[in-house]
Amino acid sequence: MAATQPFDDRDGFIWMNGQLIPHRDAKVHILTHALHYASSVFEGERVYDGEVFKLTEHSARLAESARLLGFKLPYSVAEIDKATRDVVAANKIVDGYVRPIAWRGSEMMGVSAQAARINVAIATWVWPSYFTPEARMKGIRLQISDWKRPSPETIPCRSKAAGLYMICTLSKHKAEAEGYDDALMYDWRGLIAEATGANVFFIKDGTIHTPTPDCFLDGITRRAVIGLAQARQMKVIERAIKPEEMADFSECFLTGTAAEVTPVSEIGQYRFTPGKISKTLMDDFTALVRRKKAA
Ligand code: PMP
Repeated sequence: MAATQPFDDRDGFIWMNGQLIPHRDAKVHILTHALHYASSVFEGERVYDGEVFKLTEHSARLAESARLLGFKLPYSVAEIDKATRDVVAANKIVDGYVRPIAWRGSEMMGVSAQAARINVAIATWVWPSYFTPEARMKGIRLQISDWKRPSPETIPCRSKAAGLYMICTLSKHKAEAEGYDDALMYDWRGLIAEATGANVFFIKDGTIHTPTPDCFLDGITRRAVIGLAQARQMKVIERAIKPEEMADFSECFLTGTAAEVTPVSEIGQYRFTPGKISKTLMDDFTALVRRKKAA
């Protein structure tokens, strides 16, 4: 991985517990509950032309993720929205990324932490889209992960909780070490679930198929792209998809805040040819996120 400026050693501001503070001062103690017991939820958002795409949906998901982990954010969704706009403006971000996070603090140490403070911080950094549409159309290569998305009765799987990313990091590290870009994860039943930080779509005979998000994140980008496809009268089917069906799909792409719409050329033994539908939705997504500029 290319080394970048460490994330704790940057200029600018981070919004933390109600205040904008210098970026380097946004610290937690080593005895923070979240660090030991994963009592932390977060969001990943993108700024396009100075505006956060689907901001309120992300702020609402942060609150819902916290609720699923048994805690309540000390700020309303509207307050989180405002704090996000403030931190983006304070850092003069035009094209960038936003990382809100909420976590249990260091007032209690042990599995039980009923009285631990709930902290909230929002960081942001410059992050333009690096790849041209032409480069993206080559498609990325995915390995199939050995790790499975857990069943809803083993973990609060609809929460964007830090703990759910343990198997994502393991999967992505193995994929990268073996020359792939990312990994596709099956679920506990052996059905296709998602990539390590993005949802997956397939195309067959002009119809779009995507797994029902019943044990993994129903991405905000996923929903936006389904809307774009439907606006073009394309048929989108959400259903259980078996791995062996990948042999019959012609195109495949990922969706996510970071991935946007990224065509896939390879998943394990299966091959796809990024084509017209992927390109159309990639272009429609770019137009959607940049619509203010175009208007
Ligand atoms: N699945 C996982 C595991 C993710 O981390 C993400 C990124 N947040 C997604 C799906 C896509 O979600 P979104 O489109 O809301 O970014």
